[in-house]
Amino acid sequence: MDIFDEIICCMKAEASSTGNVFVRRKDLAEFMNEPLASRPVQQQTVPPVAKPQPPPVAIPETEPEPPMPAMTALPDLANMGWQELHQCALQCSACPLAPTRKNVVFGCGSQQTELMFIGEGPGADEDEQGVPFVGKAGELLTKMIRAMKYDRSEVYIANIVKCRPPGNRNPSDEEAAICLPILKRQIELVNPKAIVLLGAVPLKYLMGMTGITRQRGKWMEYNGIQVMPTYHPAYLLRNPAAKADVWKDLQQVMAYLGKL
Ligand code: SF4
Repeated sequence: MDIFDEIICCMKAEASSTGNVFVRRKDLAEFMNEPLASRPVQQQTVPPVAKPQPPPVAIPETEPEPPMPAMTALPDLANMGWQELHQCALQCSACPLAPTRKNVVFGCGSQQTELMFIGEGPGADEDEQGVPFVGKAGELLTKMIRAMKYDRSEVYIANIVKCRPPGNRNPSDEEAAICLPILKRQIELVNPKAIVLLGAVPLKYLMGMTGITRQRGKWMEYNGIQVMPTYHPAYLLRNPAAKADVWKDLQQVMAYLGKL
């Protein structure tokens, strides 16, 4: 065996043991002195070539969500007069209704009256104008008040919540509970002889009772004030036949206030 044969033997041994010999195929064939296709040839192992990486793309930072305005609890309203109470409501951010309102709908009418009406909350028209009961339901309430021999300016009108619940939904328990002290202070300041509750929402949150159909027309008492629950004017717009029931309820109030 000459030196050339020794080299070939060494390369064969290296190739079969590691399978990882770096050699050109042509060179190996020449070394093996055999045609290329005549026997299997150890595949070249080509070291992987690193692909050029695209430059890192800067990911734009997303705008952070604006923080929800902080809710500030209502202060103690017990000793507030009308002006202070009104200001307090106008600046109120105590419940989740504050961010979506256009106007705080505090209440309207005479602050020295024997008759008060309480509804549930502002709708779109009321939110726009800042006055309770100004839409179609408001027009009907005005007619109800006139039928009771009062002018609208002679009674006081307020709602359970002072800001519009989005989509005219009912106020939530949380919203009603947070806002209720404002209404309670309004009732204290007006100190009427009678209150007419308009619909299920004020019945629930002022009197803690459910079932307006069962409870309407029955006298109740709130802090020594006579309370008459009846249907909401918006319900009467959808069910005009119920006006007869409401008229019976209002006549009881008129009788109590000496209007009959
Ligand atoms: S609904 Fe009442 S408690 Fe809520 S933000 Fe308006 S005024 Fe304040």
